Amino acid sequence: MSNEREQQLLAGVPGDLFVGGNWRSAHGGGTFEVRNPATGAVIKQVADATGEDAKAAMDAAVEAFPSWSATPARERSELLRRAFGRLQERAEDFALLMTLEMGKPLAESRGEVTYGGEFLRWFAEEAPRIQGRYGPTPEGTGQMIVSQHPVGPCYLITPWNFPLAMATRKIAPALAAGCTVVIKPAGLTPLTTLAFAQLLEEVGLPAGVVNVLTTTSSRGVSEAILPDERLRKLSFTGSTPVGQALLKQAAPGVLRTSMELGGNAPFVIFEDADLDKAVEGAMAAKFRNVGQACTAANRFIVHRSVAGEFTRRVTEKVKAMQVGRGTEDGVAIGPLIDDRAVHKASSLVSDALDRGATLQAGGAALEGEGSFYQPTVVADVPEGSEILREEIFGPVLAIVPFDDEDEAVRLGNNTEYGLVSYVYTENLSRGQRMIDRLATGMMGLNVGVVSNAAAPFGGWKFSGIGREGGAEGIHEYLQTKYTLTPDPYR
Ligand code: NAD
Repeated sequence: MSNEREQQLLAGVPGDLFVGGNWRSAHGGGTFEVRNPATGAVIKQVADATGEDAKAAMDAAVEAFPSWSATPARERSELLRRAFGRLQERAEDFALLMTLEMGKPLAESRGEVTYGGEFLRWFAEEAPRIQGRYGPTPEGTGQMIVSQHPVGPCYLITPWNFPLAMATRKIAPALAAGCTVVIKPAGLTPLTTLAFAQLLEEVGLPAGVVNVLTTTSSRGVSEAILPDERLRKLSFTGSTPVGQALLKQAAPGVLRTSMELGGNAPFVIFEDADLDKAVEGAMAAKFRNVGQACTAANRFIVHRSVAGEFTRRVTEKVKAMQVGRGTEDGVAIGPLIDDRAVHKASSLVSDALDRGATLQAGGAALEGEGSFYQPTVVADVPEGSEILREEIFGPVLAIVPFDDEDEAVRLGNNTEYGLVSYVYTENLSRGQRMIDRLATGMMGLNVGVVSNAAAPFGGWKFSGIGREGGAEGIHEYLQTKYTLTPDPYR
């Protein structure tokens, strides 16, 4: 990958805020640096939005709402479909941009362009299918009309780990439903959202329908938007503590909220599992996105009779993984997002080892430029270890043995999170029991990756509220009206 190509791509990404259809600098002219986590080098300066900019973005979203919400569903749909088409043409640019600002290997960024793009196509298909119902009251005294309406201007906050997909997963259903939005991407990875806003503009997005605020002051910007009574919805993807704080801030406005929060996924392998498939699924569930996914398998709960063999096989694979810049060929493990993430992985591994776990592979940060941590396997992790309680968000595979199904369920559910679980068994009845018994919003039954634009993505317990994607996804941006009319024959 030539450096010239990278420079050219970065030069074409806007560094301004996108407000009311205009690209403009932040109030007061502040900017901040975006860095490549593989090198630590600054790759772009972008505008640093303030509370004043946030108010201007809200004004723009409010002003655009009447006409966008009245735009026929077919037209809203076609805008999203054009965006999907344009994204396919520009897939390589978006993939490279994500690798540059976030670090994941290029092949995975390409995968994210496909996944992120599917939300545009899916919600383009959902927009014309927003339906209501009409029918008599049970007493026969009147007719009930139930109709669906866009909730209004929305505030969307996205994390850094999937810069494109987290944006399209919110923007596409919002626009399909007839809502206008202000989106605040993570300060670490603002470029993909800016490039995506530019793409939307190219395919005919009306002014003010999508507004982008890049900022180092997430709190300042959010505190300017959330109390605005014209705002009707907050959709957040990020960590549980920030989600909890935002829920409090959303309460005075009685905002509709969608919360896609943290995870601590159990990956349960029974003695009757197909071990080849389990190893393959484990590698995907653990190392996709360098372990930095809310759906990443965090705890490998493996039946004692197969734990040794599973450990041996994953260790062999992990030792063969190439670590390096995501733009290099053959790299499976890119950098973590920053040095804090490296320290976190490092301290979770040390804590597990101190408590008696055994190190099978990796276990150290890499010296030199960039924020790298070796892909790591720790086995026999004792209960009570921090690594079983916290989201690792790094390339560390932690194995805990169990003896029977009840113990697997107890260990699997021993977390306040409930986003996703993975279960490997060839026993159909056991698989069906696990669907009931594991308290998570999603489950991979003999598969290691569950995300799909057509599926309702979301968590139970501390992992969140609401669903993104699927038939459910658009309803997060719609509100119901029931109208009663008299029986026309009386
Ligand atoms: P984070 O909570 O630190 O930040 C998420 C977003 O919130 C960013 O845009 C950030 O700038 C913003 N933010 C931070 N503090 C804020 C505040 N006080 N007010 C308003 N906004 C604020 O999370 P992160 O480190 O960017 O992302 C990783 C987390 O996201 C993990 O916990 C992961 O599990 C979760 N995640 C969840 C899903 C899901 O769908 N459930 C998907 C991806 C990531």
